[in-house]
Amino acid sequence: MGGDVGRSEELFERARRVIPGGVSSPVRAFGGVGGTPRFIAEGRGAYLTDVDGVTYLDYVQSWGALLFGHARAEIVEAAAAAARRGTSFGASTELEVELAERIVEAVPSVEMVRLVSSGTEAVMSAVRLARGATGRDLVVKFEGCYHGHADALLAKGAGSGVATLGIPGSPGVTEGAARDTVTLPYNDLEAVRALFAERGSEVAAVVVEPIAANMGVVPPAPGFLEGLRELTRAHGALLLFDEVITGFRVASGGAQAVYGIEPDLTTLGKVMGGGFPCAAFGGRREVMERLAPLGPVYQAGTLSGNPVAVAAGIAALNLARELDPYPALARTAEELATGLAEAFGRSGIEATVNRERSLLSGFFTPGPVRNYAGARAADHERFARFFHHMLKRGVYLPPSGYEMWTLSTEHGAAEVERTVEAAATFRG
Ligand SMILES: *Cc1c(COP(=O)(O)O)cnc(C)c1O
Repeated sequence: MGGDVGRSEELFERARRVIPGGVSSPVRAFGGVGGTPRFIAEGRGAYLTDVDGVTYLDYVQSWGALLFGHARAEIVEAAAAAARRGTSFGASTELEVELAERIVEAVPSVEMVRLVSSGTEAVMSAVRLARGATGRDLVVKFEGCYHGHADALLAKGAGSGVATLGIPGSPGVTEGAARDTVTLPYNDLEAVRALFAERGSEVAAVVVEPIAANMGVVPPAPGFLEGLRELTRAHGALLLFDEVITGFRVASGGAQAVYGIEPDLTTLGKVMGGGFPCAAFGGRREVMERLAPLGPVYQAGTLSGNPVAVAAGIAALNLARELDPYPALARTAEELATGLAEAFGRSGIEATVNRERSLLSGFFTPGPVRNYAGARAADHERFARFFHHMLKRGVYLPPSGYEMWTLSTEHGAAEVERTVEAAATFRG
């Protein structure tokens, strides 16, 4: 297991000649852990097989996009059937109305929704809408949260990808964009209160991952989300929950249903696209009606509401409704978290396993990890060794200590056992 990488290495070399870093998205390059990124030939359920014929138990699951594992038959069939009827029309279809209705039905605060093609696009558009609707410029975000790579959201402390690369933000983000973004520590309501006391009338939106999952998993402290809701409301700013990861993963209604808080705007992606490029932003009717063609805030997309992606998304949401996988997913996550913590404990390795519902990740630090500073204080070199220890034993973790470990419905007791057994032989 995990030995031969000849074909991956060959492909990586070829890729690096024509693709920067050899990858279509940075964290895939294994920069945070070293070694040869595996090129994937196929996936089935909880498992991946690479081009060298090695099979891995997969805890990446397309970075959270897959809730039902790889190549789930219902989703593949729905997409294939849609593709045979035509792959894109640039005109409205019944399926996109159905998907929008399903989202509105499921997510408590969402009265209207617009479909887009990626999480980045969803958050970028929602931020523009918030600015257009409030007539204000300032966006407040939190260190270690990732909201896609739009300029306004990449300023300082932008989560896993940039954390893995160890860069503070990104060149190419203008000073103006950086000036219009304020980044505060996650879970620090006092910092938010102070910001609002000083500049409350300038704030268009507070953008937050209601369960942070891009610095590893960091649950919201009691009262944090409630406090954001109160402060934004009191100052006429909008609250934007970025539920690109949590939406349809922690519950059908997302984290907002779990915590009983209604944001003004919500972004969705990953699970709702069933593994295809489909995402969405939505919210209160009077805010959403500011969008073109009803209102002046412009937003558009040639492939938005793409019929193949939408069919896959509906199939995924159908599965979520039929199976109600959330209690079982949370139980599996709990067993895994407990098993890992015990394994590290027995080996005398200082570790913190954070878990909220089915979201989890491990940090090599005594903890607690409550924000980005805590996540950064973990031993990321040890994580790199752990990653390769696991990979050698056929367990494919996200190649960075700043990433969530993703479960699917296909991860069961056997997978948990195998993972914990592999972790138990790690000596640091
Ligand atoms: C993945 C992610 C995004 C970006 O989505 P893409 O589809 O990769 O553009 C935005 N916000 C959060 C919370 C995410 O996890």
